[in-house]
Parts: sequence; C-alpha cells; structure tokens
Amino acid sequence: MAGRRGLSSTSLNLTFLGTASAQPSSTRNHSALALRLNSDVWLFDCGEATQHQVQRSKVKMGKIEKIFITHTHGDHIFGLLPLLATMLNGAGGTADGVEDPRTHMVQDSPDPLEIYGPLGTRAYVRNGLKYTHTLLGAPYVVHELRLPSDPPDGDHTSLALHAAESPNGRNIPQTNGVWSDVYHDTIVSVSAAPILHSVPCIGYVVTEAPVPGKMDPAKYIPHLKRTKTPMSVMSRLQQGESIELSDGTMLQGPLKRPGRKLVILGDTYDPSPIAELASSADLLIHEATNAHLPALDSNTKPEDTFESVEARTKSRGHSTPQMAGAFAARIGARKLVLNHFSARYPGNDDVDPTAKTIMEGIAGLAEEHYSGKIICARDFMSFDVNVPQEHAWNK
Ligand SMILES: [Zn+2]
Ligand SMILES: [Zn+2]
Repeated sequence: MAGRRGLSSTSLNLTFLGTASAQPSSTRNHSALALRLNSDVWLFDCGEATQHQVQRSKVKMGKIEKIFITHTHGDHIFGLLPLLATMLNGAGGTADGVEDPRTHMVQDSPDPLEIYGPLGTRAYVRNGLKYTHTLLGAPYVVHELRLPSDPPDGDHTSLALHAAESPNGRNIPQTNGVWSDVYHDTIVSVSAAPILHSVPCIGYVVTEAPVPGKMDPAKYIPHLKRTKTPMSVMSRLQQGESIELSDGTMLQGPLKRPGRKLVILGDTYDPSPIAELASSADLLIHEATNAHLPALDSNTKPEDTFESVEARTKSRGHSTPQMAGAFAARIGARKLVLNHFSARYPGNDDVDPTAKTIMEGIAGLAEEHYSGKIICARDFMSFDVNVPQEHAWNK
C-alpha cells in the first residue's frame, strides 16, 4: 500500500509470468500473472517455478503484497510454497537443539503477506509448510472465498496454525452469488465470483476507484475570493462536488473519470456467473486452452471439427478462443487477452514465424465473435492498462 499512497495517477501494469495450461513447455511456464499497482505487486495464480519467472522479469519479488489464487489445480498453485519460502526467509534451520527464532513468530502481525483463494488454499499452504519443515521469517494470512456448498468454518485440515500463519484469515461468504469487495483501499477494490471449471474456480475483478478530474484553479479562485469563501472548499471541488457560494453562484468541481476495470479469470468452460460483475471491463483475461486450426496446426487429427474440439475442450473444463471471444463480447470488454494455452502452441511468437502464425490463427478464431482488440499472451509480455481514449483528457 505504501507505494501507492499520494499518487494522483495510478499506473496499472500487467506482466504475464506463465501462460501454459496443464503442462509447461520450453517457451511457456505454468500460470502466473503480476499486476503492478505503481510499485506494489499482486500475483494472480502461482504455478510451478513462478519464483524463477519473477526473477527473470522486471517484477520485484520483495514488492509482492497479495496473491490471488483462482483454483487449487497444481498448475495454478504448485509454485506458492517455494515463493513463500524465498520471499519470507524460509530457508535453513537449526540442529542439535538450537532454537530457531522463527518458531516464535508473532502471528497477528499487522502486515502479513495476504493470500486469497478457494477452500483448500489455507490447508494446502499449512500442510506443505509443515511437512517440508519450512519455517518463515515473516507472517502470512490466507483468506478463503467460500462457496455456499462449502463448510462456513474450519480449514479442511486438523493441523494447528503454522507458526507464521496469522489467525486472522477470513472465510468470506458469498452475497448474491458474488464476493464483493474482498479487498479495497482508496485506489482499488477487488471483487470475485465463481466461474465454471472441473473444480471450484474463481474469477477476480479489480476496479480502480473513480479518479478526480483535473482542476483549473483559475475557474474557481476569483469566485472564492469575491465571496470570501475559505480556500479549503477547493478540496471538495476537487472531489467533483458542487458548491453554492454566498452570492448564489454555483461552482461545479471537475467530474471524476470512471476507474479502470480488469477481469482476471481462472480456468473455465463457462464464466457466466461473473458476467454481471465483469461488465464493461477495460481488459478481460480469458483462457483459450484448445483451438481447432486445421490449416495451421500439423498435429490436427483428421476427424476433428470445430464442434468436436469445442465439445472436448468443454468436457475438460476449458474454453476455445471462440468461447473466450463470445464472453468478451457478452460483457462488452474493451480488450481481450487470451492465455493458458496447450503445450502444443509455442510461446515464442515474437521470434518464431510459425508460432506467430498459430497465435494469429487463435486470435482470428476469437475475432469471429468479438470485434475489440485481442492479444495472445506470451511469457514475460508486459503492458500498461491505459485509461480509455474517451477519458484520456483526465489522465
Ligand atoms: Zn490450468
Ligand atoms: Zn484447472
């Protein structure tokens, strides 16, 4: 949070750390995405070897303050324990009865590393740390987003809290089918909703708070002076309020621009339950695990058709590019980023013409249903989420 205070314009940057589905390849690692909010970093998913990917990127590991897990399939969470061990000084130990100070962590530290995820996330972290004898030099907390079918209490494990685990982990119930404002501060908020996959899975929506407009003091100060109004009302005008002066003059502060909205989905064959929460997203990140590209993909089975590939993809809990494009159109997203690709689609399309053709083919399939901008993510791709053109006057 410290890195975000006091800045009038928030920088939102995304770096894809892993864009593979079930199996990684030499050009794609397992799922992980870093969102940089000014200098703070939030991770979405943490597949195997995410810490290596962080080290190879411009994302600073020490700045990670929150980790959001979409679901507990290994390709989205296997990297969490090693990342925690590195970030929170989890290496080493003591022998021969020498006491390790990390066994007496203060568990209710005010500033633990925050992890959000579905039921099982807390148990996975606690058990993994316990059975690998990992002690941590700084605390963490796990907040679970509970489905109506989940038990409201309990942690899915009988193990006691880990020495570094804060007891303040919340079990967050749904309200009207969504988890509203699981986190918020003055700059951004995070809400979430379930999306349909082969196991419980969560999509996250990060929304920037409305941003105050640009003030032109010359428009206001002469009126304030004339009516001897205290200059302190300038801060109310800056917030977009209107003020009536003693002589009846009305002053209207500059209107706020809407905050940017990012929708980050996990694996899904149907994200309908998040559609309303995700509407009018500036950016939608949607998986596209399998595609039918008969003219481009030499591994295409002769009997395959668009219909058979879609049926097979759905039956495994996943989406095709066409399904992702249709959902982007349904929610009115400004931009669509596809990720979570099968290992058969190489991720070096910036240097390999064949890989580039395949990625263009995948984007082309999504285009059949969606007319906005489409990007196929590759590992280490990084870009800013800009203020939309119509609001850019206020940037
Ligand atoms: Zn996956
Ligand atoms: Zn999965």
